[in-house]
Amino acid sequence: MTKKLELLMPAGNMEKLKYSFAYGADAVYVGAPMFSLRARTNAFTLESLDEAVKYVRNLWSDKKIYFTANIYAHNIKIKPFMAQFKKMVEMKPDAFIMADPGLINLVRKEFPDVEIHLSVQANNTNWAQVEFWRDLGLKRIILSREISIKEMKEIHEKVPDIELEAFVHGAICMAYSGRCLISNYLSNRDPNQGTCSHSCRWEYKVFKDEKSEEELETVTGRPEEYEELTGNFYLEEHERPGDLMEIDEDQYGTYLMNSRDLCAIDYIQELADAGIISFKVEGRNKTVNYIASVATAYREAIDAVEAGKEYDSVKLADELFSIANRGYIPGFLAGNPNANAQFYERNGGFQTKVFLGILREYDAEEQVVRVEVKNRFELGDTIEIVSPSGTTSMQVEKIYKTGINHGTKKAGTTFEQTFTFHKESAESVETAHGGGYEVWINMSENPGEFAIIRKWIESNKETTEEL
Ligand code: SF4
Repeated sequence: MTKKLELLMPAGNMEKLKYSFAYGADAVYVGAPMFSLRARTNAFTLESLDEAVKYVRNLWSDKKIYFTANIYAHNIKIKPFMAQFKKMVEMKPDAFIMADPGLINLVRKEFPDVEIHLSVQANNTNWAQVEFWRDLGLKRIILSREISIKEMKEIHEKVPDIELEAFVHGAICMAYSGRCLISNYLSNRDPNQGTCSHSCRWEYKVFKDEKSEEELETVTGRPEEYEELTGNFYLEEHERPGDLMEIDEDQYGTYLMNSRDLCAIDYIQELADAGIISFKVEGRNKTVNYIASVATAYREAIDAVEAGKEYDSVKLADELFSIANRGYIPGFLAGNPNANAQFYERNGGFQTKVFLGILREYDAEEQVVRVEVKNRFELGDTIEIVSPSGTTSMQVEKIYKTGINHGTKKAGTTFEQTFTFHKESAESVETAHGGGYEVWINMSENPGEFAIIRKWIESNKETTEEL
């Protein structure tokens, strides 16, 4: 089967959906309210899902939108799920991403024409499973993140008549994608119901207590004084003497299970050769800065592979290091990453650039642009303007207050609303503060729609994490 390769981006809300397409996505996946993973942060309602489908259909005939409905339901959720599913079918998305075999069976019976893609949450690790789902009428399988490219190739060779999708970028679970109870245990939020609190990436502290074992049995509270442990600490499992797992604690704490992030920018050709046709990016909760950067990098790689050309993966990896990350690994694509999968010292802080803001509106006469500020910047800063047509840089020479604060914008203002710049009354300031404030800054050319600004983090310029 020869098929166009697809860059599939996450869209946690309408704005992210628009940015994903603007930066080159072929398709997006959006969450069904209440019934997808990321259920707590999913901004879509039934109304806005309908709006999203219409937005895509009005602008393109070849772009796709998939609805994610991949919870594992308890009995009580089956009826409401099917009722909502009926409404979503009427919106005519291109496919539904599902995991629960029972729900899939019910949907196949009631809506036999609906296209279903099997979610990564269903942990498809071998060709026999893929064959099983194909025989049940599914069109696409999103392969488990825990298998290698070699295994993907074998699956494709054994079951060539089904589409295969693989994750190429984003956070990874410490469990088989989402099939875990850590979060449920620690925060009462069940990953299998879409409410994971990412407890595996939390910072943990180890307490020293001088009490006897007997006394400790009754300890329930936190010792009054936290004493940072010094020296080297290791875990040893009873049956594996000498097989030590280092626990490293610094002033921030201990990251026992914190996984590095997946980055497959180096593997797009190999994945395509193995039969993958859809390249999926994780991160419905991530920012438009993440979307712009990740979509730009993978778009370039996928276009090159489709054109039979090579691409500069080092340059694209540099782009991907600009965004927040926990250090990158290629997941299991090249085999078991073993100890390299985790980073024990911190769960972030590797990114080379800081996201400063979103450019909302250009005033051509005054040559200023309105910025929704995300992070602080000041006069004299050299900033990068990232837009779907490329990246340029400039120096900030003027900053004016707008009086708009998105933290208090509920009173009728929207992202689409325009604001007039009055030079005579504009108050010039030296610093743009984050947290929802807006400013106007100098800009000699219209950056166009969907532009953002960012700047280098000087102390991270030398980041040399291995891919
Ligand atoms: S707590 Fe971690 S391992 Fe468990 S589902 Fe959430 S992200 Fe995955």
